[in-house]
Amino acid sequence: MIERLLSTARSYLLDLDEKRLYEAFEFARDAHEGQLRKDGAPYITHPLSAAMILTRLHVDEDTLIACLLHDVPEDTERTLDEIEDRFGEKVRFLVDGITKLSKVHYRNDMESRQIESLKKLFIHSAQDPRIILIKLADRLHNMQTIEAVPKPEKRERIARETLEIFVPIANLLGIWEIKNQLEDACFRILLPREYSEMTRLVEASEKERERVRKKTIQAATRLLRSKQIHFLTIEGRQKNLYGIYKKMLRTGKSFHEIYDLLGVRIIVDDVSTCYQTLGILHQHFTPKIGRLKDYIAIPKSNGYQSIHTTVFGLNGIVTEFQIRTQEMHLENEYGIAAHYFYNHKKQNSLKKDVKKKYKWVQKILDLQRNISSNRKFLEHLKLDIFEDRIFVFTPKGDVVDLPLGANVVDLAYHIHSDLGMLAVSAEINGKPAALTTLLNSGDTVHVVTSEESDGPQVEWLDHVHTHLAKSRIREFLKEQDRTTVLDDAEEVLDHKLQVLGLTGLNDLTPLQKVMAMEHFVAETWEDLLYELGKGNIEIADFLEALFQDSELIGSKEDLWDVHVYDRNQARRLKSESIQKVHRVELLVESQNRVGLLRDLSNELANLGINILAIQSLPRPNASLARMQFVLEIFDVREYQKALGALRKVDGVMSITRVQNELSIPLSSGDAQKKPAQ
Ligand code: MN
Repeated sequence: MIERLLSTARSYLLDLDEKRLYEAFEFARDAHEGQLRKDGAPYITHPLSAAMILTRLHVDEDTLIACLLHDVPEDTERTLDEIEDRFGEKVRFLVDGITKLSKVHYRNDMESRQIESLKKLFIHSAQDPRIILIKLADRLHNMQTIEAVPKPEKRERIARETLEIFVPIANLLGIWEIKNQLEDACFRILLPREYSEMTRLVEASEKERERVRKKTIQAATRLLRSKQIHFLTIEGRQKNLYGIYKKMLRTGKSFHEIYDLLGVRIIVDDVSTCYQTLGILHQHFTPKIGRLKDYIAIPKSNGYQSIHTTVFGLNGIVTEFQIRTQEMHLENEYGIAAHYFYNHKKQNSLKKDVKKKYKWVQKILDLQRNISSNRKFLEHLKLDIFEDRIFVFTPKGDVVDLPLGANVVDLAYHIHSDLGMLAVSAEINGKPAALTTLLNSGDTVHVVTSEESDGPQVEWLDHVHTHLAKSRIREFLKEQDRTTVLDDAEEVLDHKLQVLGLTGLNDLTPLQKVMAMEHFVAETWEDLLYELGKGNIEIADFLEALFQDSELIGSKEDLWDVHVYDRNQARRLKSESIQKVHRVELLVESQNRVGLLRDLSNELANLGINILAIQSLPRPNASLARMQFVLEIFDVREYQKALGALRKVDGVMSITRVQNELSIPLSSGDAQKKPAQ
């Protein structure tokens, strides 16, 4: 196996010191002597396989050496000092970045060890991104051999951690090949039934088309040769089972609707050959109208470059060809790694967009400076850095990368603190919008500022999504004087309670106040309000605590109130959470118009909220409509979202929470049923 590593490395590293690489292999092999992997193989097979994975990214010699040595300090008698003596300071730094913190020091708290080790990994990676590449290869090989881990809980824990932390990193860095393989390995562990179903579907449809694919590749090869086109590779494309599965869930389409194309990729020497190849294919196969995408002339916003064309191929089977150069291919598939090593070869500093991608590391460093508790650190890490991303544009055309769920305030703070401070409103795609408007990928957002601005409002805390915006708003609120803070807190709270169907703060009973004070460990009611006003306690959390299991969102005895079920697969994958659902009844008064009911239901459907019942109520005159909705709501946050969405619907005049005297009896048959999705 070492021979294979040497020859592969030699094929792309012209100045490879083979002797040094071989010495690293021997050093690792001897250090791990007698140790076995869980599957019974000699331990050295693990670092060797990880190094083989890295050769696909064309990494340099030090990275390969560090990868061979990556488990030595942690699992053997050999030390980092010895590694430095033999292989130098650079290799030591790389290996050190991967090495977990001492087991001895953290023996009573393995969770802390885990998180502190992750922090260390990120901090070191910020200085040298090759570390994170080694970690990804290490994790990929561990996931590929995870069957050997005997305990199912452990397998699942590792798979979940991989899906939550390492897949998003590979995604951010644009290393698709590793991302896809990691994802499929996690998929297999976490959703074994779905995984084998997807495998079965792919295999069944592959059988039919494998023959056609081979023939297509043969035909394309002959065609290009006959026109003297030199190409490097013609191959079928890799499948990402988890990607197809997620797309099925997201779009509701069937497997065959999504996985319908025969995919063939052609890699050539240079750009002009790409276009020549395209021309030849189009002469021979009829292209499908509207399916030619030239991402070479106009790269995607993430930098992706390739030509895509869909044609009626052999036997009329719809076939997508992707045509690109080797350099584009490496960048498309291996993202940051390709940039890094490509530029190093050219003795250049990192390109600007590579530096941009490193911002995530900077963000992690900021996070860890600001957050003391480990659990919070991990939560924020997942939220701010690794959640699904959206890309929005500034009026100048700059692309800003934000987590899904971010609003205008998040964007403002992301661009500059002062922009957040002075923001008063926004224009999204040229239309006026509130600062709390959720952003979508592709929006062009202009943040309108004013020197007269009162500054951030405590209410924003309820809507912002990023840790950065939250902490900046809190910083601002902390500096306000106590009376202003208290006044603001009262006003906001009063309003929130009214929205929830109460008359306001005066409605709270002394008992409720005392319980809330106890819950948040506040000495006095005023102290509690003060903390709320400063944003140290979130309004949604406060409302939750205040109304825990009480009449706010359905009572406990209510037959329909407590359902326990998996909301959908996607959510289960993320959090494994099984949640309690509350039944909430809303009275909507609106101007009567065609399509009103459809629009209202659509808004709820978009939020994924289940409607248990809808009923039209007698109305005072023909131009008015009164409707009662019975909804399933998870928590106060979702409740507020539902209200916000319904209010936006054209013609809606008021929405009131219906108390019991108005409620519509549902038939008892419904009560037993689990809600349908
Ligand atoms: Mn390892």
